[in-house]
Amino acid sequence: MVEIKTPEQIAKMRAAGLVVAAMHEACAEAAQPGVSTKELDEIAAKVLADHGAKPNFLGYGGFPGNICTSVNDVVVHGIPDRETVLRNGDMISIDAGAIVDGWHGDAAITVFVGSGHAPELLELSRVTEESMWAGIAAVRKGARLVEVSKAIEGYIRRQPRPASGRYGIVEDYGGHGIGSEMHMDPHLLNYVDPRRRLGRNNPKLVPGFCIAIEPMVSLGTPKTHVLEDEWTVKTDDGSWSSHWEHSVALTEQGPLVLTAPDGGKAKLAELGVETAPDPLG
Ligand code: MG
Repeated sequence: MVEIKTPEQIAKMRAAGLVVAAMHEACAEAAQPGVSTKELDEIAAKVLADHGAKPNFLGYGGFPGNICTSVNDVVVHGIPDRETVLRNGDMISIDAGAIVDGWHGDAAITVFVGSGHAPELLELSRVTEESMWAGIAAVRKGARLVEVSKAIEGYIRRQPRPASGRYGIVEDYGGHGIGSEMHMDPHLLNYVDPRRRLGRNNPKLVPGFCIAIEPMVSLGTPKTHVLEDEWTVKTDDGSWSSHWEHSVALTEQGPLVLTAPDGGKAKLAELGVETAPDPLG
């Protein structure tokens, strides 16, 4: 069952989304060489507390952090700790979430630590982020969810191939419905799998539908494995990866990017999509 939200509920999700945006702003600024991922987690926890919001990652299936910190060949679900100290040249995905009044927000950004990154890494992050926006632009009344998957994959496949050969669209993880829980139906693949029966994972998009869109792309394989800590997800070939995510609501007036400070307005305008007005003004 897909949970359909009222405009009042979407306003609460917008409030949660703005807390997530504030967590990202603070963590991105702090992600400098010499800083541990645990310190980033503490900064995120403070932003949550300052806004009177609750963490949704902390304790989720026993997860020990307020954010996921995934460095270099870690794709997602990296656990913040004191031992992982950022070095110049690293890239890190910071996945953050918040609950306001029982409603969830969830988003991720890829941040470059220090300077001097290879152009291929900068391009990997750009392609991943832009594929997310292509997916967001496909969130339209009456569309089917598979069109979002198709838009994400199509964007990535149209880009010039990296020197490593091919972009790997991570297969085992994807986007998800979000609202009164962080992870809800439907699951959103970041590619179209013709072998997979779409059924309940291919609903028609209607106002009140909310989804977290989160492509994960590597410079090599789409295959991943989970480490012994039962959380950390790495690429099988050690290639580095990027991860971007926004939570999006479809309204009668179009999409609203709940976790973007401007609601997605600037970026979606570039793509010819009108953004719904911000319920919080
Ligand atoms: Mg998510």
